[in-house]
Parts: sequence; structure tokens; C-alpha cells
Amino acid sequence: MRIAVDIDSTLHHYWVQFAAAAKRRFGVDLPYDQQLTWHVSQLRPEQVKACVRETHSEEQVLAAEPYEGAVETIREWHDAGHFILVTSHRAVECEGATTRWLEKIGMPYDLLHCSYDKVTHCVEHKIDWLIDDSPENLLRALEAGIAGATITHPWNLDVCETEPVVCAENWHGLRAAMAPHLAPANRRLGDHPARAGGVA
Ligand SMILES: [Mg+2]
Repeated sequence: MRIAVDIDSTLHHYWVQFAAAAKRRFGVDLPYDQQLTWHVSQLRPEQVKACVRETHSEEQVLAAEPYEGAVETIREWHDAGHFILVTSHRAVECEGATTRWLEKIGMPYDLLHCSYDKVTHCVEHKIDWLIDDSPENLLRALEAGIAGATITHPWNLDVCETEPVVCAENWHGLRAAMAPHLAPANRRLGDHPARAGGVA
């Protein structure tokens, strides 16, 4: 299989960095468990961009701690022969720091892509699975015939309840939930939920 993996809120708990930037810069509290949508209504779009820019500085990129089990799971998939595309909605200039972070945490991958056209890039690379916390990206992936999976967050519970997306509370759960889909017998093109018509 060809698997694309998002970084923020997928490989590490990005919300702590984003909320800290919002508090420091604008005095706005953004409690994680109250963030029920993708849209951050307490900040203006320019303020969101400023916080994202700050969290994608080299210092903050390198400070991110991966979720428990994330690197081990990706390594297992990579060792099993699956193609790993690391893909993040980050400016191209962030690729250097992101590459150093991936080295630092010891995560194997085949390709890194930082840009704002993630699903288009996944289609170009014939990706079978997108692992991403963004409801928008997951829905776009499904429309493009790419199966979706995610770590659950308050902002993606709706998509987990209503769409054929594989969801788990943590990477240990995601590893187990993905196992049947990534088994050797399922490595034929077209054998994933988005193409096969649904999954629990
Ligand atoms: Mg993300």
C-alpha cells in the first residue's frame, strides 16, 4: 500500500503548540476539548496564520514530541514494504526543519512533501491511504478514491461517526485497526474502504 501521513495532530499533539501561541500572542484561550470544529472561531484568519507560522518555526518543529506508538507503527509499516509519504500543510521552507525532526525522532519514510495541496499530491503519488486529522482532507481524500484514517480529536468526531474512515484514539489503536487493511492479502489496488464501499 501507499500511505500518506500528516504531521500536526497526527504524529504529535500539535494543539498544545497552537494554543500556546494563541495565548501568548493574542491572549486567547483555546481549550482542546472545546475545539469541536476545524474552524478556530476565536481567532481571525490572519491570527490563525500567525500562530501556524510560529508553530512551524524550526525551534518549535524540532521540539515536537511524537505520539506514543506513532514512530514504531510507521516503522513497522515501512519495514513491511508499504510506501510512506509524509505530507504536511506547511510552507516549502519548513521542509529542512521537518526533515531534521523526522531524523531526530527516527521515523522512516520514502518522501516528504510540505505544501497546501495535500490531496492533489496524494492523487499524483497514487496514495491508497491518507492518515490525517483534518475532516476537510479526509473528505477530499474519500472523494478522490483514497481511504482515510485518523487519530480522533474533538474536531473530527463527526467525520468518524458519519464517514467510512478508520478512527482510533491513539496510535496503538490505529495500528490494530489498520492491520486488516494492510495485510498482504489486501495489497491489491482497490481493496480499501473508499473503493470497496465502506468500513466499520
Ligand atoms: Mg494535521
